[in-house]
Amino acid sequence: MFVIATMIIECKENFHTVICKVKTTFEDHKGHDTGPSVGPASRDAFYPALPEVCRRGKYQLDGKKGEVPFCSKKHGRHPTLLPGIFTVFCQHGVCYGYQIMKSMESPNIPFTFLRTRFEVAPEAVIYDNACNLHAYCLNRDPAFFARTQFAVDALHWFNHIGCSMGYESKLYPKFKSVNTQIVEQNNSKLKKLKSSLSHMIPQNFHACLRFFLWNCNREMTVHN
Ligand SMILES: [Zn+2]
Ligand SMILES: [Zn+2]
Repeated sequence: MFVIATMIIECKENFHTVICKVKTTFEDHKGHDTGPSVGPASRDAFYPALPEVCRRGKYQLDGKKGEVPFCSKKHGRHPTLLPGIFTVFCQHGVCYGYQIMKSMESPNIPFTFLRTRFEVAPEAVIYDNACNLHAYCLNRDPAFFARTQFAVDALHWFNHIGCSMGYESKLYPKFKSVNTQIVEQNNSKLKKLKSSLSHMIPQNFHACLRFFLWNCNREMTVHN
């Protein structure tokens, strides 16, 4: 089992501006192209266009055993291979980067991403584990996430047995056109890579994945 968790964040740009900006998504803030780089990756998180703006901080509930998941959705994992990759897209289908998930779908990775790389939280977050992520966020920084709407993508909704229907993205007309396609397309693209990625050393893993995602963004500019 190799999980590809895709998060979609709402960006405020219109599609035309986004297409012009796609090429710079994998460049760092100095304008260096970090796409097909083969240097050793120092960290597991790679979001060149979204630098950290603050630290995550520590919260009272961190590490406490009493935190019961809000929704007990089904999941499984491979006993020895890496649990998976967390990727971030905006609603226009632009990939903003990725991160290695070392533990199975912990809301800590998406929480840390949202809390440390945005001055103001995105208006909408569509994610496989959105229900548990929402509870995790509100239990830590309710003021920061007060205006963010969380929804589960249509592809993974069937896993959420007994979940609140307020998280079903299909019920919101504004999410209808967006989410299913991006999550499905990304999952099917990355599936082609996963058997090779699973057996690579870290440097090759990062170089290969960066190059792949950089090229997916590049192809968007060619087709539009
Ligand atoms: Zn966008
Ligand atoms: Zn749920």
